[in-house]
Amino acid sequence: MNLIEPIPRPWLSDALAETGFETSGQGKLDIRVTETATGQYLVMGVAKATIQATCVSCLEGFEIPVKAEISVFLCADPKEVPGLSEARDLDVEDLQKEAIHGETLVLDGLVRDAILLDLPMNPRCRPECQAWRDRLPQDDQESIDPRLLPLKKARVAKED
Ligand SMILES: [Zn+2]
Repeated sequence: MNLIEPIPRPWLSDALAETGFETSGQGKLDIRVTETATGQYLVMGVAKATIQATCVSCLEGFEIPVKAEISVFLCADPKEVPGLSEARDLDVEDLQKEAIHGETLVLDGLVRDAILLDLPMNPRCRPECQAWRDRLPQDDQESIDPRLLPLKKARVAKED
């Protein structure tokens, strides 16, 4: 079964609560659910969203296009699948069971985790953004540790 659905903006806002990120609009979920056996499902696809972040360097807002891959095996009771219960830790097991409600799959938790895992720890508007240097106090000859002075001289010589 293919499922292509918008991810509503309020849902994304909830998912991002307290992460420091915000949503710029609705996202899009594009997944394929395959029932591999009774009560066992393979969920594969991608969750896309545009996330509003603040650059850790220049403190400007910028947008991150998120494309989170989803690839999960769900089953009503992981212990019934040989080898699976040992291979998965408890959190994942709980999540997998949580996703199955009778005939209905609730993928909210999976989608949320996939998006959050795709977000950077220290977002930068561009990889080379070095604006944080400009916010440091200006170089003051007096305040520099004397042991570092040779370094400063070397740098000045190089810049000349
Ligand atoms: Zn920046």
